[in-house]
Amino acid sequence: MYGAIEAGGTKFVCAVADENLKITERISLPTTTPEETLAQVFEFFDRFDLEAIGIGSFGPIDTTIGSPTYGHILSTPKLAWANYDFLGAVKSRYNIPVGWTTDVNGSALGEYGLGAGKGLDSILYLTVGTGIGGGAIIDGKLREGLEMGHILLKKHALDDFSGTCPYHGGCLEGLAAGPAIGERYGIKGAELGPEHEAWDMEAYYLGQALMNYVLTLNPQRIILGGGVMKQSQLFPKVRHELELLMQGYINLPDLNTFVVPPALGDDAGITGALLLAKNSK
Ligand code: ADP
Ligand code: ZN
Repeated sequence: MYGAIEAGGTKFVCAVADENLKITERISLPTTTPEETLAQVFEFFDRFDLEAIGIGSFGPIDTTIGSPTYGHILSTPKLAWANYDFLGAVKSRYNIPVGWTTDVNGSALGEYGLGAGKGLDSILYLTVGTGIGGGAIIDGKLREGLEMGHILLKKHALDDFSGTCPYHGGCLEGLAAGPAIGERYGIKGAELGPEHEAWDMEAYYLGQALMNYVLTLNPQRIILGGGVMKQSQLFPKVRHELELLMQGYINLPDLNTFVVPPALGDDAGITGALLLAKNSK
């Protein structure tokens, strides 16, 4: 059996699966302190005979093999978790291989292996939620260490919002993540109707970001997940913006199959963590 942890800033999802990665049991618990949360995680996993565990974690985390803080959560506004040796804690509890990557890379791995990227060599998974982050698998290899949410964009002519990013103000995340939409309009994105102008502005920014990713990473498919992308009217708008910006400079594939939602839905992350477990043996 394999174990998987999708460690988010708000909640942890733990699952166990059989050799075919079919999930047989799962739990969801709130993210409180490392001691409290991990105690519940261990209580769950202790009931199974696991061969390996995979972790996709909120961060920033250290994924540089050989680094003294490899496996740690680094600086985070969730202070109880700052500098916490998450991987070390799991490894010392279970003497089995433990795979370790970021939450968004976990989702990318899940979609690549068993979702919308199945059968392809190069994909990009972008999450548009509380933050914006990308996980890229290029020629079959996961690229660690990308921070694709903080790229700079051209501001929309009608946008007078300065952005939420504490580092850059109006980077992609600062202008287009869920909290930016909420602050710009003074109402949560989920409560704005599908016809609201917010979605045209959102697509304007996401289209620019995708143009940059297409030109630099050349993925065969781009999967857009996260809470904001639950607004499904965004998909045709983003495809349109991408096509408009590209101006035919390179031939884009059929956009309806190029820019897509996650096939695994909210299970992309936990599925990726299971694949990570299986591959870490
Ligand atoms: P996280 O990024 O924290 O893992 P989510 O991907 O669910 O979690 O993203 C949460 C963000 O997405 C919040 O800013 C929230 O306002 C926004 N969001 C969630 N659901 C929707 C929705 N249906 N429409 C628009 N925005 C949403
Ligand atoms: Zn930024």
